[in-house]
Amino acid sequence: MGISVSSSLPLADSDLREEVRQSLAASKLREELNGIWRTPPHEACSPPRLTYRELGARGLLAPHWPPEFGGRGTGVSASAVVAEELALHGVPDSARVNTIDNAGTTLLSFGTGRQRRRYCPEMAAGRVTFAVLYTEPHAGSDLGALTTRAERTEHGWRLTGTKTWNATTSDASYGICAARVTGATDNAYAAISLFVVPLDHPAVHVEALPTVNPEQFFTVRLDGAEVDDEALIGAPGAGWSMLTRALGTERTGVCFAGRARRWLDQLVRAIEGRGTPVLAAELTRLDVEVASARLLGWQAVADLARGQLGAAAAAAAKWWNSELAQHIAHRAWDLLGPQGSAAFPDLLMAVREAPGLTLAAGTSEMQLSTVATDLLDGGDPWEEQT
Ligand SMILES: Cc1cc2nc3c(=O)[nH]c(=O)nc-3n(C[C@H](O)[C@H](O)[C@H](O)COP(=O)(O)OP(=O)(O)OC[C@H]3O[C@@H](n4cnc5c(N)ncnc54)[C@H](O)[C@@H]3O)c2cc1C
Repeated sequence: MGISVSSSLPLADSDLREEVRQSLAASKLREELNGIWRTPPHEACSPPRLTYRELGARGLLAPHWPPEFGGRGTGVSASAVVAEELALHGVPDSARVNTIDNAGTTLLSFGTGRQRRRYCPEMAAGRVTFAVLYTEPHAGSDLGALTTRAERTEHGWRLTGTKTWNATTSDASYGICAARVTGATDNAYAAISLFVVPLDHPAVHVEALPTVNPEQFFTVRLDGAEVDDEALIGAPGAGWSMLTRALGTERTGVCFAGRARRWLDQLVRAIEGRGTPVLAAELTRLDVEVASARLLGWQAVADLARGQLGAAAAAAAKWWNSELAQHIAHRAWDLLGPQGSAAFPDLLMAVREAPGLTLAAGTSEMQLSTVATDLLDGGDPWEEQT
């Protein structure tokens, strides 16, 4: 299908896009990806380690980072191009999102010079990955309820608590962990602080969780894990604003738009010539919806690049793109069933991934709540962007 949309948004950095496509076309990376797609239905797939290292060696894993930290010093839209291309090629990408977009953005923006030099070049090279340790058994949508505590010790901090639904943790060397600094304040958000925790610490226990999601989830128990002063990122109690800022990148929705486009194009190819007029009309409507959802995502990227991405605009982009991608994956399964994999090689991965799309990085209900709150506060979230 492929409706083309002309726009002044930075939708395409065509040279960079072409470079990423050529890198992903290398036969050893195709092999790695094919292996990942063939993961048996009840097993978790491995992260695309080789792909990350190859992109990292070319400065493509974090192109928006300064060259001294392994990037190319480009604007943030280059990073969105990479994220979208990885989604368009069916590359499972939680490890990059957690490492570069979440932990990396935070360390680069708020870390000390020493922290940046220690972690960022290895992250950008694809040699070190980070897990994100925010969610807890009783604190997900409302992270203000988190109970993991950080107590001051003579030379650092002692962390105690349980984190859950952390993706790709077994491959990661470190976790970026949100914990409440004890005794600092009664305000639920003002006590939250971020720490770098080595996952091979003897008091850190990592356990796999059973899930349909293709990428493995884990629970991480911090059993009085002592870390030194340098583990703290920014000031004690500054964690909430840092972690919400880092989530802004993920919430542009561009990687969900890439999935929606890939899955719809594969569905169309799989039923080419066999559909009814009613089905053709449905697929045409979905094609228009994917094109417009993508525009919403790229508008969010343009706002992010100008430092003006409002919470409501990001929430709308994440909500619509993730809901649409999920709907297309479910529709593909309804129409094609397990036999559809001949024309849609990652169909099973898409169906396994679909439920989590509207939960990860903030659930659909929370995104809609953000939009509604903004409207009720009297501001038109889209007006504010211009
Ligand atoms: C694919 C995937 C990857 C993830 N990766 C990570 C990771 O790497 N690190 C990490 O820390 N976490 C991760 N998570 C966890 C994720 O951040 C949480 O699942 C999410 O924030 C929701 O929290 P919860 O699961 O505790 O659900 P809850 O917050 O308990 O919500 C349950 C349901 O209630 C609804 N709800 C809750 N509050 C409200 C409200 N105020 N108004 C209306 N409805 C409400 C929610 O929308 C949801 O439908 C991941 C999740 C997924 C699916």
